[in-house]
Order: sequence, then C-alpha cells, then structure tokens
Amino acid sequence: MRIAVPAETQGAETRVAATPETVRKFKGLGAEVVVETGAGKASGILDADYEAAGATIAKTAAEALAGAAIVLKVRRPSESEIAGLPAGALVVATMDPYGNEAQVAALAKANVDAFAMEFMPRITRAQVMDVLSSQANLAGYRAVIDGAAEYGRALPMMMTAAGTVPAAKIFVMGVGVAGLQAIATARRLGAIVTATDVRPATKEQVESLGAKFLAVEDEEFKQAQTAGGYAKEMSKEYQAKQAELTASHIAKQDIVITTALIPGRPAPKLISAAMVESMKPGSVIVDLAVERGGNCELANPGEVVTTGNGVKIVGHLNVPGRLPATSSSLYAKNLFAFVETLIDKAEKKLAVNWDDELVKATALTKDGAVIHPNFSAKA
Ligand code: NAD
Repeated sequence: MRIAVPAETQGAETRVAATPETVRKFKGLGAEVVVETGAGKASGILDADYEAAGATIAKTAAEALAGAAIVLKVRRPSESEIAGLPAGALVVATMDPYGNEAQVAALAKANVDAFAMEFMPRITRAQVMDVLSSQANLAGYRAVIDGAAEYGRALPMMMTAAGTVPAAKIFVMGVGVAGLQAIATARRLGAIVTATDVRPATKEQVESLGAKFLAVEDEEFKQAQTAGGYAKEMSKEYQAKQAELTASHIAKQDIVITTALIPGRPAPKLISAAMVESMKPGSVIVDLAVERGGNCELANPGEVVTTGNGVKIVGHLNVPGRLPATSSSLYAKNLFAFVETLIDKAEKKLAVNWDDELVKATALTKDGAVIHPNFSAKA
C-alpha cells in the first residue's frame, strides 16, 4: 500500500499534507510513503526529515504518484494533477467543491475516489479529523498577530517612566473557532476585547475568555443557531439593528477582526464603508472572511488596503498558510486520523467502509461517478 504526498502546486499554498510524524505513523500501519522532493520546504520540513521518518523521496510528482493507493494533499488536485493520478487511488484533500462541480466531475472521470476533508461531520469521533477547526483556530491566532503588526502601537497597557500607553481595544465579530482563538490571543497580548455573534451560545464563551459580549439579543437572536451549531442568515431587519449597535462601537476600536460566516452563503457584510470612515487613522480591520466575499465592504482579497482616512484593511488569503509549520502539523494529523480508519491494520491494506458516516459525509466520487448527494445531481 503506497501513500503519495505530492508537493502542492497552487502558487500561494505553503502547507503540506504529511509531516515526518505522520509518515512514521503511516509506516507503522505497514504503508510505504513517497514524498515529492521539496513538498515540505515551505513548512520547514526538508527531504532528509521525511527520509529519516522512513519516506522515499521522489524527484517529480509523477514519480511520487506512480502506483499510489492513497494520495494526500492540502488542495484539490488541479486539472494537470488529475491527469497524473493513478486510476482507483483515494485522494484526500480539502476539495472546495462548491462552485467547482466541473472539477469534481473530472475527479470522477479520472476514476479516483476523492474525499473532501472539510465535509467531516463535527461529531465527537471526528474531532481529531476536523480540518476546519484546526485551521480556523490558527487563522484566528494569526489574525491578531497580523492586526498587531499593522497597528503602529503596542497592545497592552504599559506604565513607563516616559508615560502611560493605553491598552488597545480589539473587537472580534463572529465567535466560531477562529473568533474564539482571536479573543484568547488578543487577551493574552493585553488588549481590551469585545466580541459579537448572532448565536446565543457564544455569549458565555466570550465572557469565559474575559471579553465583553455585544449583540442585539432579540427573539431572532434566540433562534439564530441551527441544529448543526451554525448561524442562520439573519433577516434584513436584524442586520439593520446589528449595524446600528455595532457602528458606534467600531468607531472607538483600534483593531477589528471579522470571522463571520454562514455555511453555503456569502459572508455577511458587517462593516460598511461609512463605518470604516468613522474609525481613527491607524486603526486596523482584519477580514478573515475575505475569501468568502468579506465581512468588510472595502476588503480586497490578498491585499492590505489603506483607506483615505488611514485605516488599514487586511485581506490576506490562506491565513493558516501564514503559519505553515504549525498548520501543516495539525492538518497532517487530521488527515492521518481519517486515513487510518480506511486501512485494515491486520491485512495492511485499504479497506474503506462505504457505510461509515465519516466516509459517506466526505466521499465526493467513487468508481467513476460523483456520489456525494450535494453534487451528484449537478455533475
Ligand atoms: P463559522 O466559521 O461557520 O462562522 C464563524 C462565526 O460567525 C460563527 O460563530 C457564526 O455564528 C458567526 N456569524 C454568522 N453570521 C454572523 C453575523 N451576521 N454576525 C456575527 N456573527 C456571525 O463557524 P465555526 O467556527 O465553523 O463554528 C460553528 C459552530 O460549530 C460553533 O458552534 C462551534 O463551536 C461548532 N463546532 C463544533 C465542533 C465539534 O463539535 N467537533 C467543532 C468545531 C466547531
């Protein structure tokens, strides 16, 4: 049973799908692991580190993929990569399938069994496989670091002989996995932190981290959490009330970090151009939702925009990839935990249980067909 780890081909991707630690674990399951040369370089992992863990280094992607039963990736394979995948192989990656139905169909056509890690159910058994959480947590941390770096001042209150520096005020909008870590990080750095969300459950979480909660707590708010634990899209009326409440607060903030998302919908617009206009020069907005349309009207994907009134709006892409060593380490562990369930340990071979709820939730393609219920009709 051969496992291939090709280098990521998307220009900005710095992560890698296996680390020496997970290579060792796969070897322990009786697998042979082949890593394309340089695959771990951006994450600080050298070919020699993989070799020391028992992997073989391949000179090219084609060489790495030859004869592979399992292919581990961070991103969905590109068209040219798909052409090089061995028929019948399992490909495990974040597949980003929405809006990319043609690429999902291409994976089926190539006769590979593709698994989308981001569809892993958020149940206790699969927590260790939850790439959304492992990566969002790091994005939340990094958002504060990026915000602090753009902010030309210190975050904690400092009483010095030369005078007192006031603590920075940080407002976190959206308190899911990323938002909670942003709050915790901002608190550790000494900022005065407030946060908002539309899900009532977040109030206690925010307060337990020592931050203050701010939200329109009306009847709609009480119903805003779906059975799956996610936020609903709020009504126009609620959004207007929310904007009214947050507008005066945002004007007083030094750093605003936005992380608000609604599954399957564009990110809610929470910061208008007028709100940005009301902020002090030198203040910073970090928009973690920029890849999904942005929470701030003026955010530009991949850019740090400075507005006419001197507000910086940070729209970095692939924020977990800005901490490649840590994000690769956690992502690789998520992948190992899932792939391990697809292997018969006694026989040391692939044995996918297609009735397992984790497999059912994540499998996009099988035996040349698109099988995931969200995509099979459209393919
Ligand atoms: P997400 O990335 O989908 O959204 C981020 C946050 O934005 C959410 O808290 C959401 O409520 C908020 N939001 C949406 N619209 C908003 C608006 N208009 N204004 C303000 N905030 C808004 O969320 P996530 O980080 O994936 O977490 C979603 C839920 O899943 C949470 O309850 C989390 O605790 C839970 N979760 C459970 C597990 C598990 O049990 N294994 C793992 C991870 C997350």
